[in-house]
Amino acid sequence: MTKMPVAEAPVNGNSVPYDLLIRNGRIVDGSGMPGFFGDVAIRGSSVVAVGKVDGSRARRTINADGLVVAPGFIDHHTHMDAQIFWDPVASASAWHGVTSIIMANCGLGLAPCRPEDHDALLKTFIRVEAMPRPLLEAGIPWGWQSFSEYQAAFSNRLGLNVGALAGHHPIRRYVLRDDANQRAATDAEIEEMVLQLRAALQAGALGLTTDRNPRHAQEDGSPLPGHLAEDREVFALAAEVGRFGAGAIQAGGNPAIPPVDWYGDLSLHSGRPVLWQAINHRWSQPDQWREDLAAAARQFQRGARAYGLTFALGIESVRAMSPYTGGFEELYFQSAGT
Ligand SMILES: [Zn+2]
Repeated sequence: MTKMPVAEAPVNGNSVPYDLLIRNGRIVDGSGMPGFFGDVAIRGSSVVAVGKVDGSRARRTINADGLVVAPGFIDHHTHMDAQIFWDPVASASAWHGVTSIIMANCGLGLAPCRPEDHDALLKTFIRVEAMPRPLLEAGIPWGWQSFSEYQAAFSNRLGLNVGALAGHHPIRRYVLRDDANQRAATDAEIEEMVLQLRAALQAGALGLTTDRNPRHAQEDGSPLPGHLAEDREVFALAAEVGRFGAGAIQAGGNPAIPPVDWYGDLSLHSGRPVLWQAINHRWSQPDQWREDLAAAARQFQRGARAYGLTFALGIESVRAMSPYTGGFEELYFQSAGT
């Protein structure tokens, strides 16, 4: 740990007191520098001093001794699409220092959606995300059809930064209706899905998400819409993100052999970064992670931006840490105040 000198910006003269002084914390500022011990002074909505700061000039002081002081974290993989309506600060995330979340990963999403398809989209969430049906039925204030309208619906009272991707499942449901989880799409249907994706991107979607994880299923165990997509459909949608010129593609669970090359193909075809899941340690395949890392490196060698994601903890460890003895179901109901 190093001691940092005071570096104060000359804002409104030095006689103006700080509104908030966070003292004695271990500062990890996000720059990549090692952490260091010091104080952080805030005036208005700006950090104006970092280092050893005169505490007599602060209106309010927080003692952060023994704690880390850091900028807010970005959680780029969440499924808060519904929860954000009844929990606009995304409590479980905010409690852990997250100040920005990205929703609609893994192909899931709540837009676009026809009025008669509300239940169809609920079915995509219930099993994959272990979200109780009664909670979703009570907590989603349906009223939108387009991605743009959905975004407007969740944006009016947020307590943290929220962005949404465009999920493949709702787009496919919107275009193929009851056939969405029955069959491959026609050329005309793929074209219509591309138009729906374009509308979402133009409205602010941060990219496309899709999923072929065979362990994911609808509430009744039937396949999710995106699982019926052929490669040409997924690649056509990915190419649209490329044409748009911004946004990422998140994909998981592709059973193709070798699967990591498929993610690289998707990146090369679209020209966009692909985030794929996941490089994990599995006791059933204890050396698989070595092969996955090597395969990930191979993608960059051929010019693809295909980033393999991992978890800080095995998911079983996360569940074991939950203070909610009733598991995820109790967690959701408690966060909903029900
Ligand atoms: Zn996910």
